[in-house]
Amino acid sequence: MPSTIKNILLILGFVVLLPIVVFTLVQINKLNDNEAIVQSIYKKQLDAILFSLNQYSGDLMTNYANNIELNWIKSERHSLVNDQFATNNLSVASIGVATGDSIFSQQLNIKLPAQAWNNKIKTLLEVHQPLVERLTRYKQAEYLKLEPIGSVVVDGQSFNALLFIIESNTPCFIFYNSEQFIRKLMAPKIQQVTTEDIVVIVRETKNNTLIYSSEKYESYIEQSRALWLIPNFELGVGLKGGSIDGLIKERTYQNIVGIGILVLLIFLGAFLVYRNLVKEAQLSKAKADFVANVSHEIRTPLALISMFNETLLLQRVPTEEKKQAYYKIISKETARLKNIVNKILSFSQIDAEKKHFNLVDSSPEVLIHEIVHSYDYHLKEKGFTLILDLKASDTTLLIDKDAFSEALINLIDNAIKYSNKEKEITIRSVRTNRNYVLSISDKGNGIEKIHQKKVFEKFYRVTTTDLYESKGTGLGLALVKGIMTAHGGRITLESRKNQGSTFHLYFPLNPTT
Ligand code: ADP
Repeated sequence: MPSTIKNILLILGFVVLLPIVVFTLVQINKLNDNEAIVQSIYKKQLDAILFSLNQYSGDLMTNYANNIELNWIKSERHSLVNDQFATNNLSVASIGVATGDSIFSQQLNIKLPAQAWNNKIKTLLEVHQPLVERLTRYKQAEYLKLEPIGSVVVDGQSFNALLFIIESNTPCFIFYNSEQFIRKLMAPKIQQVTTEDIVVIVRETKNNTLIYSSEKYESYIEQSRALWLIPNFELGVGLKGGSIDGLIKERTYQNIVGIGILVLLIFLGAFLVYRNLVKEAQLSKAKADFVANVSHEIRTPLALISMFNETLLLQRVPTEEKKQAYYKIISKETARLKNIVNKILSFSQIDAEKKHFNLVDSSPEVLIHEIVHSYDYHLKEKGFTLILDLKASDTTLLIDKDAFSEALINLIDNAIKYSNKEKEITIRSVRTNRNYVLSISDKGNGIEKIHQKKVFEKFYRVTTTDLYESKGTGLGLALVKGIMTAHGGRITLESRKNQGSTFHLYFPLNPTT
């Protein structure tokens, strides 16, 4: 790898690729942190909802207890609650208290034999004696504690029971239907606390049956907590439309895709910069080669001209014949110099888009004949055979005659320059529907596939041999291409290594430019 390209890669690596890698790693790390924060916020929010609902059910029951105590005292121990309470709290079936040895119960919404309630209360008092003592101690210390004692069966029907103390030492039981309690009293509160994207459910844990849900359709329940006062029931909460993990994964995925696209774009940009820099580096190398080449090309004829000129001036030439030979050399070398200078000037004009083309309707084949005629001697002298196969003598085109000649001469010159043993050049022409096609073929070196596009770039030369051995400037084909573009046409190349090359010039019959 040439050192310039290595340097470019190194610089790009440090300036672009290294920061990208660091940036990507930092972003991905940050992403994980952010997602963890979001996840914990979500979970805390859901937890708060569950806590507030539990608190609410506790408050409801505490209200019951306070209400009962108030009524009991007010009615001078004849009634626990009034009729209003019964209609407002359909889930409460019965309330009972034990004062000394006697038991008093009040049936509210479900009528069963009074004796059944009383017996049940008696049994419960026996079973929960230590609990009653503990709750009494609490109550005497001004702390009303409600204690769920699970489900009980009274006369074949199942109820949930809650125990607490009223006054200072009277155990009181509330028997209620837990499902009804949830549906009638908790449901409105659940609706109140749920926001648009949150689902709350209540389910019975023994059989895992859904008792209530704030949404019609099934949702993914993220967290659940037992209902403090209703054993065997739990509250569950989740997000509508997926789990937190799922949502966060989706977000992470979207963010990673975003970062990926960004990185890809930066890589693409870096690649384009790399390609441009390499091109620039190659161009500047080609320019340096060009200067070396042109200096060499100019120095040789100049040296020859000055040497023979000096010899002639000093009148050291013995015979007239020799003199003529020297004049010939001087004139040949002058032509060569003129050629090089003209080529450079012509190219620089085309390159700067300053060249004016004088397009005149002319017959290309008449021109070709003229050019070939003036080149005939030169070709024969170098041992070349020229085959002319022109098939469109009637065609006329809008062409700049000088530029046309320059293009053709450049291609013939190349054919001569890059031919070795087989010295045969063919010039063909055909007319197609749209174009007049002129092809110049040789049986020389040929051009490898990888160079075929590049040979039309300015200064580009295929330098397999020593730079100074094959003469040239790398401008000839770029010049021909420029001339073809000016005629609204194009140039193509067919070539195989060591089997010769054919350049096709396409002149449009009806140019648009
Ligand atoms: P120059 O001939 O001055 O180097 P050109 O622009 O005319 O510059 O040609 C560019 C390169 O294309 C040449 O260096 C040569 O390697 C290759 N080339 C051009 N014409 C031919 C040909 N007829 N046969 C083989 N190679 C060619």
